Amino acid sequence: MPRTTTPPLSLAPLLAFALLGPACSDGGPPRPPIVLITLDTTRADHLGCYGYRRATSPRIDALARESTVYERATAVTSWTLPTHASMFTGKLPTSHGARYDAEGPFDLSKAIGDDFEGFRARGIDDRERTLAAILGEAGYRTGAAVAGPWLLSVFGLAQGFDAYDDSGIDHINGRRADSITDAGLAFVDRANDDDAPFFLFLNYFDAHAPYVPPGEEYARLFAPGPLTRENVGKPEFQVALYDAEIAFMDEHVGRLLDGLKERGLYDDAWIFVTADHGELLWEIGGLSGHGISLSEPEIHVPLIVKAPGGGKVGREARRVDQTDLLPTILEHLQLPLPEGVQGHSLHRVAHPIVAEFHPLPPWNDSGDWEALYHGDLKYVWNSAGQGYLADVAADPFEKRDLRGERAEIAQKMETLLKKYLASLPRPGKAGPVKELDEETLRALKGLGYTGDGK
Ligand SMILES: [Zn+2]
Repeated sequence: MPRTTTPPLSLAPLLAFALLGPACSDGGPPRPPIVLITLDTTRADHLGCYGYRRATSPRIDALARESTVYERATAVTSWTLPTHASMFTGKLPTSHGARYDAEGPFDLSKAIGDDFEGFRARGIDDRERTLAAILGEAGYRTGAAVAGPWLLSVFGLAQGFDAYDDSGIDHINGRRADSITDAGLAFVDRANDDDAPFFLFLNYFDAHAPYVPPGEEYARLFAPGPLTRENVGKPEFQVALYDAEIAFMDEHVGRLLDGLKERGLYDDAWIFVTADHGELLWEIGGLSGHGISLSEPEIHVPLIVKAPGGGKVGREARRVDQTDLLPTILEHLQLPLPEGVQGHSLHRVAHPIVAEFHPLPPWNDSGDWEALYHGDLKYVWNSAGQGYLADVAADPFEKRDLRGERAEIAQKMETLLKKYLASLPRPGKAGPVKELDEETLRALKGLGYTGDGK
């Protein structure tokens, strides 16, 4: 259903570092090591533990067998900056403010051409209390290694981290998974002398377009035929290459888990594996990429949670979203929630599950998108009139609009969606326009604004 000029979005690569420290439990509240992994651009349904036909994720599947697997985890939007900001603040993009915003302070025009004056974004507001900041105040060492341009510290996601490695982001392929794992383990080693607990955030970026696995061995993994120049351009080959990039990330996520085991940290660790958003792979309107709309391929994400010291293992059907991570963690650690958090603990999510996407023309002229879930019904509103009601369990590519036959529920869902989003507090005024530095512009340019599809 979405119509767009070019797909957009997220951007680049990554990098590395993180943290460390064992739990300090001397009768006080629990302080397990916490590891949050985002597999950028990774759809839930392309992982084995979500039923995928290809063996893209044996290591993550093994982790899933020791975890709770959330079958209906939703991204709050379909691109990198706002989704990570929601994980870090427990708020929707409308409230934390990190999104495309024609009034925003970051001037992106030089990343896409000087003609695009007014193409701007906001980063995460520096008044937000982030997960890393809260954990740091509670005695955690906090560290991150990130891959994408939207995770560059200039956009605010570094807020609260003791160590935030956003260096070495290649403007085409980001920083590879092997390097991210190395950086994460190196940080753990450096911090291992310290008794402090640690929070480690790693953003793996390989699955992001362009789909260029690291070497022939990976490129051939799932290829449905010879990798000739002609073949490689075909969607079925592109999907195979995307899957191979997931397999490469999986191998190095596995190596990270092995590293935690070797250091005696794995059993006590609280490990979250998720994605910031998914990826359209030519199923809807012949489009690929993300940041296009709020389609299921773009916002149905994996969420696998291994509890510290064991805990619940199995499948969880409850619908949850990215705002629920922060409240879950703070609840377990017996830390108070900051004001205005909209998510709930994963154990008892009761808020409306919504998503919102606000593209800026000229990059995407499909209008604003908002969505609300009710069970497997998904009501999607679009400012350009492309809204619909779909049953995403029966119709995951949202081909069939049910608004006609289910008019009453569609109307109710639209009313709730509008009311709920309108009720949320807005961030404060953005500051003066800032020019981004050359390196950031180059990184942004490499990924989304060249008009070639990603
Ligand atoms: Zn992303």
